[in-house]
Amino acid sequence: MSIYLDYNATTPIDERVLDTMVSTYKIRYGNADSRTHDYGDQARHTVENARKQVATLLGINSDEIFFTSGATESNNIALQGLDEYATKSGKKHIITTAIEHKAVLETAKALSRRGYDVEFINPDISGRIEVKNIANAIRDDTLVVSVMHVNNETGIIQPVNEIGDMLFEKNILFHVDATQSCGKLIDEVKALKYDMLSFSAHKLRGPQGIGVLALRKKNYRFPPIKGIMYGGQQEHGIRPGTIPVALIAGCGKACEIAAEEHTENIKHMIAVRETILALLEESKLKYCFNGDQECCIANTINVCFEGVSSEALMLSTKQYCGVSNGSACTSNSYSPSYVLKAMGIDEDRIENSIRISWGADTDIESLKKNMQQLIAVAEELV
Ligand code: PMP
Repeated sequence: MSIYLDYNATTPIDERVLDTMVSTYKIRYGNADSRTHDYGDQARHTVENARKQVATLLGINSDEIFFTSGATESNNIALQGLDEYATKSGKKHIITTAIEHKAVLETAKALSRRGYDVEFINPDISGRIEVKNIANAIRDDTLVVSVMHVNNETGIIQPVNEIGDMLFEKNILFHVDATQSCGKLIDEVKALKYDMLSFSAHKLRGPQGIGVLALRKKNYRFPPIKGIMYGGQQEHGIRPGTIPVALIAGCGKACEIAAEEHTENIKHMIAVRETILALLEESKLKYCFNGDQECCIANTINVCFEGVSSEALMLSTKQYCGVSNGSACTSNSYSPSYVLKAMGIDEDRIENSIRISWGADTDIESLKKNMQQLIAVAEELV
């Protein structure tokens, strides 16, 4: 059996999450916005319980949680939803980074076509954005700064806590795409000062198709966000459309489990990392890591095997490992990673780089067996 090592693309659903969803589908089939019967009340109760579970994981109030279809939608609402306020206030300058997920990058580019002035800050070779580069880009008409917490390709943790502190002082809106950190960097996310935060449940062993936009109140007021679709008043109009009760219950359960099991989970992720590092060390391969490993999240390695094309390696080791060489959203056809490019890494090294990502349920014995096979193939491909 091959081993799945592409957790940054999506994670296998936790059995307990699945059980919660199945029972919700069976017994909570009412529309959570129906007022006229118990079925609606019960569905609403399930949704509000999940909202509390998510809020507990983030350390915020449950009225600050808005359910969406996933991080892509949350990121779109967080940025496009400011349009009315931007027009009124005349603030049309956006600061983001060149290594954001496409859900932020493409939204920012669309806004720039609509008259916004968008600046994309590059990281250095460490894969990190420097706080001072964000600070230097700030202007009087800066509307919002959007920086991801953890990069999905490299696993590099961005200094969002420092950026948040700096922006809080200046009263500039801050959006954080926390899709890769939610459920993993729990204390860091709780300590973060942000106005808007996005994530998808399927990155923390919840179901696909459900996510969260957290909107933090300041002086009892929400950030000036409006929904970007017209429809009903679900989620206070931030995300109209019938509320997917079972998906939300699954999202809540995944958050509850992550909050409870986080310490153990991280320990296991570190053990997996050490196993992979030991196997690489024992191999004959020449390799280097992309990004400063001191700042890397516990479940990701982005590694370059010198002289080994990542495409050839992945194709010839499919029977052993499911790894990737870029974001799943851009991997239909090969093009060199824009994240590694922005870090200043040369094309050869990018071409020979793969991303390995795992979870708290990754089996170490199976990992060893399959990684050894992958390494053996890589040694032959040099
Ligand atoms: N942001 C980041 C950092 C991600 O890794 C992803 C998923 N790869 C997304 C946003 C988009 O998530 P989804 O596809 O679930 O909307």
